[in-house]
Amino acid sequence: MGERERGSTPDPLADAVLRGEPRAIARAISLVEGDRPEGGALIARLHARTGRAFLVGVTGPPGAGKSTLVDRLIGILRREALTVGVIAVDPTSPFTGGAILGDRVRMGRHAGDPGVFVRSMATRGHLGGLARATADAAAVLDAAGTDTVLIETVGVGQDEVDIVGTADVTIVVLVPEAGDDVQAIKAGIMEIADIFVVNKADREGADRMAQAVSAALSLQTFATDQWCPPVLQTSATAGEGIEELWGAIRRFRERPGHDRAVRTRARHAARLRQLLVQQLLRRVARAVPDGDVEALVDRMAARELDPYTAVEEIVARTCGAPGRRRAGAAPDGGGTS
Ligand code: GDP
Repeated sequence: MGERERGSTPDPLADAVLRGEPRAIARAISLVEGDRPEGGALIARLHARTGRAFLVGVTGPPGAGKSTLVDRLIGILRREALTVGVIAVDPTSPFTGGAILGDRVRMGRHAGDPGVFVRSMATRGHLGGLARATADAAAVLDAAGTDTVLIETVGVGQDEVDIVGTADVTIVVLVPEAGDDVQAIKAGIMEIADIFVVNKADREGADRMAQAVSAALSLQTFATDQWCPPVLQTSATAGEGIEELWGAIRRFRERPGHDRAVRTRARHAARLRQLLVQQLLRRVARAVPDGDVEALVDRMAARELDPYTAVEEIVARTCGAPGRRRAGAAPDGGGTS
């Protein structure tokens, strides 16, 4: 379906999302989470109306206090009369269909506030699926006119980097207890953090942790016009350091020479890659039955076939022989899925 056709058919759900109706937003997120063609069609309708929301990524190990911190940030945002969407992603959760209890707990003080929309996302087990679903859910909230979307993820692995790494600002939350793990921190998240938070600053070891992160940062060279991630301390339960955190977020957002378009473009590039990988794998699955793939693996294990030739064979069966253009070939079905 072309853009124009999409635009001309009425879509009550998309219209209700654009009006910011909470039930429509919830339904729309379920749709994009379900990874069905209807979800893709909905995003296609909404895409032109996105780009206004400010996306804040919050990541860190389980129990670091991310939810408590997010709850505090919601408080500040609401005082500024900004509407807030929260997407809480838990790739380790065995539950599917939205962790309802988690949402209730998260809503906490903000339950009943029409300016706050909270949604949990559980893993789908698809390759790149969670990052794709999260980006789509953020797009729904964006199109619905939400001012700030907080994306909270558990852990500091590749999934989290994919999910929060291209937010407008990325906050990495650490705790004093992780003081000995700075080596591990360096590996994955030094690169994506715009702001470090050592939460549970009421506990012993917070200064040491903050110093360790600062020391690790000092090993990197930052150009004079480049943002050097600040290392803040908070006590989320007591509400301490939260104003400072919000101040740092604002400074980051308003930093001189900052071009939001660069980050936005990176986000779109990541989305394109995610969708492309998913779509291509889906086509492979359609074109090459599982049994055939297994047979190729058997031949590889028996050293009869090398992996590169095996891949060539799968690609040829999926897309046609390399180098041969299928002149005038119609795109194979699949619609917007
Ligand atoms: P998340 O898993 O990262 O979202 O962590 P939670 O926000 O659920 O917090 C985990 C636990 O740490 C809860 O029992 C919180 O009450 C507690 N907690 C959160 N922030 C602080 C803090 O600043 N100081 C202390 N002592 N406990 C905290």
